[in-house]
Amino acid sequence: MTSTMPTKDFKVAIVGGGMCGLLCAYGLGRRGIQVDVFESAPQFGEVGAGVGLGPNAVRALTRMGVFEAVLKQSESPSAIFRAFRFVSGMNPHEIIYDYPALDTDKGLGIHRAAFLDAILNIIDRKVAHLNKRFVSVEESTSKRLILHFSDGTTHEADIIVGADGIKSTVRDFVTEEGEKPLKFSRTFAYRGLIPTDVARRAGVQSDLTLRPHCFVGKYKHIITFPIHLGRTINVVAFSTDHQTTFPDELPHPWVQAVTNEELMNDFQGWGSDVVSLLSCMHTPSRWSIHGLSPLSSYVRGKVVLIGDSAHAMLPHLGAGVGQGFEDTLLLCELLGHPETELSNIAEVLRTYSDIRAPRATMVLQGSANAGKVYESYAPDGYSFEEMQEKLDSIWHPVWHHNLDDDLNAAVISLQKRGVFAQPSIS
Ligand SMILES: Cc1cc2nc3c(=O)[nH]c(=O)nc-3n(C[C@H](O)[C@H](O)[C@H](O)COP(=O)(O)OP(=O)(O)OC[C@H]3O[C@@H](n4cnc5c(N)ncnc54)[C@H](O)[C@@H]3O)c2cc1C
Repeated sequence: MTSTMPTKDFKVAIVGGGMCGLLCAYGLGRRGIQVDVFESAPQFGEVGAGVGLGPNAVRALTRMGVFEAVLKQSESPSAIFRAFRFVSGMNPHEIIYDYPALDTDKGLGIHRAAFLDAILNIIDRKVAHLNKRFVSVEESTSKRLILHFSDGTTHEADIIVGADGIKSTVRDFVTEEGEKPLKFSRTFAYRGLIPTDVARRAGVQSDLTLRPHCFVGKYKHIITFPIHLGRTINVVAFSTDHQTTFPDELPHPWVQAVTNEELMNDFQGWGSDVVSLLSCMHTPSRWSIHGLSPLSSYVRGKVVLIGDSAHAMLPHLGAGVGQGFEDTLLLCELLGHPETELSNIAEVLRTYSDIRAPRATMVLQGSANAGKVYESYAPDGYSFEEMQEKLDSIWHPVWHHNLDDDLNAAVISLQKRGVFAQPSIS
């Protein structure tokens, strides 16, 4: 990306260089907006795991102008159908429901590091700063925002975008004092990547290379999806202690290396494909799955949240990062709008939050509900037919959302409130 003259009278600082932060840096830079991104880690990168991008995520990336770059890095020749097959976790692994495929429902499975590489290849690297852990913000006498980092350095900007993930520090400057939205879901997830030929040799009969699978059962479920053109199977095995209340966050670390024996004990008595597959995860990592209670707003003044810092959700619809991409798209479109300028920034950011928060909350709640459905398959839970009924259309509201509507609604709202000029009637 080549640098151009700034198009706006404001500067943006993004905290967090994960999938949403880097995408946002690209989206703003492309619109000629001055932007810097500050990442706490010594390098950009994600732990070795895949991520599934739904059709709405693919559409958002396409509108951001990055989908081709992401696709290239993914090794997939094109966006592919990725609707789930739901299978009983017990022998004989009967198929419960094949989620219907529409021609428009194209998604992508990609390694997270590959996604970041795709964006890093097209971003102006001068804007990306590593080893910068944001700790606090204060307002200067000239009403600019001063970011403080743990190494004692500071940076001045007009807008802060918190893209610092589920454990966000920026969020503390947006939520009410004492508010504790971060909760432990009582679910643990064992994650691993398994070469497909290893899984086959271990005796896995189901063909997991063509589409994502969800093995359902009581209080547990296993998600698989193919990456690396089907050469690798991304596996996440969930185990939940179903209680009605959710405690506050667990002490760190949330991710721990565990033994295969521990994993196998947790899934004792499950069907042969599940047991064979999990036996291939020699060094699984065990994640304590946290999520946020819905926030009423993603903005305070000129500090705004995107991605998991705003709405970290349970991963059961594979929709978290897609919601982050929708945030990023709308934020970039609004900040890049010809009528947006320093003087109306707070109103523009408020409008972003008014549009995005209800939709992301709907997806967050749908994700929690989906987990309950997957883990309620007999005995004494849902019957085969009840499962089919519950799974029918479960992704519909996530995938089929018109992104144009978000921008249009935001602009109309800003026009009605006199922030943007009324359209001329000619
Ligand atoms: C088990 C599991 C499976 C999932 N599967 C899917 C899936 O299939 N599909 C999907 O859409 N979503 C999935 N998700 C959710 C998805 O991973 C998140 O929604 C996504 O990673 C959020 O991206 P982000 O950029 O907002 O945050 P992150 O990816 O968390 O990035 C935040 C960045 O901010 C940095 N940072 C943190 N604090 C600071 C600080 N103080 N200063 C500077 N930098 C900081 C971090 O180092 C990190 O690089 C899954 C989540 C889990 C746990």
